[in-house]
Amino acid sequence: MIRPRHILGISGGKDSAALAIYLNDKYPTLNFEYYFCDTGKELDETYELITNLESYLGKKVLKLENEELKSSNESPFDFYYKSFRGYLPSAQARWCTAMMKLKPFEKFVNGDPTISYVGIRGDEEREGYISRQSNIQSIFPFRRNIWSNDVLTKIFNPNNQEQVLSSFHSYHKGRDFDRIVDVLNEPITFDRNYKSETEKVIKRKLNASLDLGIPEFNRSVFEFLKTTAYPLASEIDYELLDNEDVLVRDDIFKILRETGIGVPKYYEKITYEVDGQKGEYARSRSGCFFCFFQQKIEWIWLLEQHPELYKEAMKYENTDELFTWVENESLEELMDPERVREIKLYHIQRSNKEKSKSSPYLLDILEGTERDGCNTCFL
Ligand code: SF4
Repeated sequence: MIRPRHILGISGGKDSAALAIYLNDKYPTLNFEYYFCDTGKELDETYELITNLESYLGKKVLKLENEELKSSNESPFDFYYKSFRGYLPSAQARWCTAMMKLKPFEKFVNGDPTISYVGIRGDEEREGYISRQSNIQSIFPFRRNIWSNDVLTKIFNPNNQEQVLSSFHSYHKGRDFDRIVDVLNEPITFDRNYKSETEKVIKRKLNASLDLGIPEFNRSVFEFLKTTAYPLASEIDYELLDNEDVLVRDDIFKILRETGIGVPKYYEKITYEVDGQKGEYARSRSGCFFCFFQQKIEWIWLLEQHPELYKEAMKYENTDELFTWVENESLEELMDPERVREIKLYHIQRSNKEKSKSSPYLLDILEGTERDGCNTCFL
């Protein structure tokens, strides 16, 4: 059987950069391939981060590009923007991710059995981009559970119970094994109409299994995978099976600072004042400077911290055709001083409300569900 490749996409954000460092330092025997899908519209800090990473890792971060771009001297974004006749990408029509991220990624993988490492942290509740191609398997080293949902669905599917139990039996004895039997026996439905109930049961089964030992759970899953066509099935052993680390937001910043790679400047909060009230803003993500996923306060950050880029973003809008980055509002309208004041005041209000809640990770809360939209760009 062909052994899998180990690949890691560098988005330019903090989490994927920290993941590259973490895996390189902890698992030097794995031969990681790093790649970056450039849109040509990133902030300078992203390119700096990649250069710093390359010198730390002692390896190139491969820049992936589609064939049709090779003969063009335009940036990838501008090339596709023209071919889509000025139709701006949006959450509903994300041609940018499809053309500039997924297409070159799938060509890079080229059908090879591949393990793709994803930097979703232990303090995040989301899954990230999972390829539909069966030759690509995602692994999440920062989480307590390193496996993707599709693997868990198989593990907890009653149809596979006999096989799964035999795998678990190799690593759990006595009461622990009885407990595993109970966990697997808890009824579960895969009826699409009960999707959220299914997810809850899977989560419960997963936590109960992990509580009996993370390496034991991982080894049982690994053994089960050997009966499947997953890329890891061809491996005799796998270095991450005994990994019990859980890395959260502070750990990511620590890794970047301590290795000298540095945290991209755009994450640093800047204080602003409006109507005698103080607020803080920063950019919460990597990706194109004009990304439509950003919040309005981030647009104001761009306007005030990088006015030249804000102006550049304005040039792409066509208000006659209603092609605007922000739904129902042009960047020209957004930069009106009264509108800026309104957005800042709203942001202060919302921040204060969130601060009174338990999580210290305000920026993550404010990123909210919007960030789920583009894990390929922001991790
Ligand atoms: S960062 Fe935003 S605009 Fe850029 S490719 Fe990703 S989703 Fe599209």
